[in-house]
Amino acid sequence: MVPIVNHPDYVAQIGDDHKFPIKKFGELFQLLKNDGIISEKNLHIPNPATIQDLTRVHTNEYISKISNLTLSKEEERKLGFPIVPSVRQRSFVATGGTILAAQLALQSGLACNTAGGSHHAFASSGNGYCVFNDVAVAARKLIAEHNIEKILIFDLDVHQGDGTAKIFEDDENVFTLSIHSKKNYPLNKQLSNLDIELDEGIKDDQYLEVVFNSLEEMNKKKFDYVFYVAGVDVHEEDRIGKFKISTEGIKRREELVIHNFYKKRIPLCGVLGGGYNKDFKQLIFLHSLLHRTCHNLLHHEN
Ligand SMILES: [Zn+2]
Repeated sequence: MVPIVNHPDYVAQIGDDHKFPIKKFGELFQLLKNDGIISEKNLHIPNPATIQDLTRVHTNEYISKISNLTLSKEEERKLGFPIVPSVRQRSFVATGGTILAAQLALQSGLACNTAGGSHHAFASSGNGYCVFNDVAVAARKLIAEHNIEKILIFDLDVHQGDGTAKIFEDDENVFTLSIHSKKNYPLNKQLSNLDIELDEGIKDDQYLEVVFNSLEEMNKKKFDYVFYVAGVDVHEEDRIGKFKISTEGIKRREELVIHNFYKKRIPLCGVLGGGYNKDFKQLIFLHSLLHRTCHNLLHHEN
């Protein structure tokens, strides 16, 4: 079974009426359990990320602001979360979760977190619901401790992975690719190694062709590891995404991406990315397509 990482503390106490659908992390875990995709055998509980892990990406000053809950009002506004103890705890364990999933994928070929993809977090600031850049922290750890040299961050969230792009702008070991909406947050885009900007209203066939072509392009580069940020805010019923991708389109996207790297035996760590669907139940199902696709793939092989 595909290793899946979850921690009860992913659900921070920010109030049920908060714009960010924080409860999705708990509900996703329940759905995956009910559908037999998570069992005792493949569930992994992470430790919080250590300061040593975080400092490979974030400044000491920023880490202590989060640790001591001393962000300014302006910084808190940019982040979008109230900086309270449960948000701090969530930030450390969700980052630890992506680290753990990244390590598990080295053994099993595929592994997923049930959170992660905080791609708007920069070295010294949090933005757009992203405190620590979990994928960046995990990528640097793989390079520092696991002999990995060439990493691809394949980011299909509808928003640009701006923090990730900036963090790795001068890093030869990590290639950042972001396929996102041209007219959407963040207003000031950064330079990824490859940015593909799409117009709002794009539909399945055209979108999947772009994804397919970018995979072909990436296959030439011989990466030895992939992080996949599987944001589902590309969905037609997302509140902020502005794309017109159907549920079936997202399912086909996950199959395209995951099968592509799995066939080449390139380890892949899947993380959630964003999702703000009008329908909460649908949102949970859409996020589960990442884990479902990995599960089906390993299930068929064995
Ligand atoms: Zn997003």
